[in-house]
Amino acid sequence: MLDVLRRIIQEVNGARSLEAALATMVRRIRKAMRTDVCSIYLFDAERERLVLMDTLGLHSEAVGQVSMELGEGLVGLVGQREEPLNLEDAPSHPYFRYFAETGEERFSSFLGVPIIHQRRMLGVLVVQQQAMRRFDEGDEAFLITMAAQLAGVLAHAMATGTLTRPAQADGQAMFAGVAASPGMASGELVVLMPPADLNSVPDLIPTDIEAEITRLHEAIANVRKEIGVAAARLVKRISAQEVALFDAYQQMLGDAALGQEVEKRIREGQWAPGALADVVKRHVQYLERVDDNYLRERAADIRDLGRRVLAHLQEDSPRTPDTFPEQTILIGDELSAASLGEVPRDKLVGLVSIRGSSTSHVAILARAMGIPTVLGMVDLPLPRLNGARAILDGHRGRLFVRPDAEREHHYETLIAEEKALSEVLEHEQDRPSETSDGYYMPLMVNTGLAVEAVASLKSRVGGVGLYRTEVPFMMNERFPSEQEQTRLYRDQLESFAPLPVVMRTLDIGGDKDLPYFPIDEANPFLGWRGIRVTLDHPEVLMVQLRAMLRASVGLDNLCILLPMISSIEEVDTALKLIDRAQRELAEEGVKLARPQIGVMIEVPGTLYQLDALAARVDFFSVGSNDLTQYLLAVDRNNPRVASLYDACHPAVLGALSHLAIESRRLQVPASVCGELAGDPAGALLLMGMGFEALSMNAPSLSRVRAAIRRVSLADARTLLDETLALPTTAAVRAHLRQRMGEWKLAHLLPPDD
Ligand code: PEP
Ligand code: MG
Repeated sequence: MLDVLRRIIQEVNGARSLEAALATMVRRIRKAMRTDVCSIYLFDAERERLVLMDTLGLHSEAVGQVSMELGEGLVGLVGQREEPLNLEDAPSHPYFRYFAETGEERFSSFLGVPIIHQRRMLGVLVVQQQAMRRFDEGDEAFLITMAAQLAGVLAHAMATGTLTRPAQADGQAMFAGVAASPGMASGELVVLMPPADLNSVPDLIPTDIEAEITRLHEAIANVRKEIGVAAARLVKRISAQEVALFDAYQQMLGDAALGQEVEKRIREGQWAPGALADVVKRHVQYLERVDDNYLRERAADIRDLGRRVLAHLQEDSPRTPDTFPEQTILIGDELSAASLGEVPRDKLVGLVSIRGSSTSHVAILARAMGIPTVLGMVDLPLPRLNGARAILDGHRGRLFVRPDAEREHHYETLIAEEKALSEVLEHEQDRPSETSDGYYMPLMVNTGLAVEAVASLKSRVGGVGLYRTEVPFMMNERFPSEQEQTRLYRDQLESFAPLPVVMRTLDIGGDKDLPYFPIDEANPFLGWRGIRVTLDHPEVLMVQLRAMLRASVGLDNLCILLPMISSIEEVDTALKLIDRAQRELAEEGVKLARPQIGVMIEVPGTLYQLDALAARVDFFSVGSNDLTQYLLAVDRNNPRVASLYDACHPAVLGALSHLAIESRRLQVPASVCGELAGDPAGALLLMGMGFEALSMNAPSLSRVRAAIRRVSLADARTLLDETLALPTTAAVRAHLRQRMGEWKLAHLLPPDD
């Protein structure tokens, strides 16, 4: 059965339209269950009705015509109760209703199951049988499993609107995701396509078949030209046999060969890149299986040619910095830190990605750069959005594509108000972060990006609370050398001297990959991350430590921070390496003061080893992002569980409060450098707990400072006591909002829905 199930899902997944997907479902399910009828009803949320969308066994004219309210008829009952209904004699059920158009009086047995995606009922899947037949437990389990599996595919197809309502694909549309960096922007969407990779070309229905075919032939002609030029250049240097190979390439690309096959595929309903990928992959697969060395070699040739043609097809509008729209909203399947660098900063106004969530690192970078961002927008029909006008709401996690005039106007007003608020807050940026009762709460900044305007920051902060060294590593094509790192770190230390700069050793793994050091794991956040990687590669860590120490000569403002510590042994080993680096440098004549050394408190286990840690290090820095992820067992990068991820969960606040108390007892300074510190309400709670410094992205400084300056320490402590007594995240958030409102600080929080 599992096999059948898997095959049906695969087929449905491969369908080119919602209609095709539904048709596949009803046909395959009817056959697998050997029943007379299989029908699918989808819930039209606007009309609040279940509509018959496809059937095999009922009258086909009923499709699109028959619909029912929730609770109306047996199908309506399944939809309303969101539970399966299995009846041997359906007409005798009190809810049975006869819909003449379906001709269904002939059927006795009925089995209906709801299709539910992320708690939302999308529709009802029904099988019926003429003869009285009790669908058995196996049938029921099969249909429930089928519906659960199909729910994701259906949700995607329905939400994108691309498949259900092609006419609307060019109209106004709203997509929802996870709010990842605040702010709002209006601009033009630019879809970032991955580099030519035959395996990652999405299937798309061509809107204009002839145009796709023209595009294909142009791309092929370009590759033929390139090959001709290369052959001419090489003709004197290679053998006649090798020259013949170029002729073979030309033939393969000829209209009668590859071109014709791809064209046929386009006419079957696939866009040019997809058609090319299909054809090339089929040939490659075939040739690779052949027991003939010569032909196997040809597989590589065809793949290479395919990639070249694909590169031309994807190069429709090659972007140079000059060709990005003035207001670019960059949108992609998985935007990475590096992809942020592709658009000139002054033109980049927003970011949208299908993957990722609010504390994924691309989100943190976006916040540091002050770019409104929404991630986890799983339902985006990417290629159809290129060039469309859009409004991005980074507070509420929404993207409005081709907005109407009313929405445009509404957002213009909101954007203007936000700008005015930033200008007002900017005025007090040089004032001390001091409460109304005179308590000074040091604010620090998180860095790692070259874009930070260091000069203006220095006078506003108490130093750098977290320099994420992995960011420059991510922008590179290999591990930077000791000299390169020294220059980079010296720059940072010098810019802020004499203020302290906390440099964290390389924290890769999780969702921070280096292109030249890929880590492929099933559970990357629980795997080889942070200190675990660098202790396994002391050669990498030693270079980094030496570079940090060397960079601090004469400045003495370096603090070293160790990420992802989960055991005392890791601290001891890292400390030995720091000693060794210092000794080596001393032998080379470099004289240094010993830097302050701290550990990140971000793995819950460390909360129970604070005494042992305190005996070894000079300070604690709390990574509330990871501490939240690990305490709550919620992947910080997974949009599906994003609503469960909140550092204001009572358990996280309880742990933080405990940590602040313990650090005071142990006389180890503790600060917070996770995102909670940059949330104005979160910052007040952390101040109430007694943390000694709060470190945040530069754009968060103004709101946090404004909040601190308008409350007293006594009020913050009361707020903390009240909050710690609350049992749920929702209650905490509501309470914070209420108090902030009473203190006339609601405007500092992200807007409410
Ligand atoms: C954290 O985990 O809170 C933190 C500051 O580190 P990062 O977000 O880089 O993992
Ligand atoms: Mg962390």
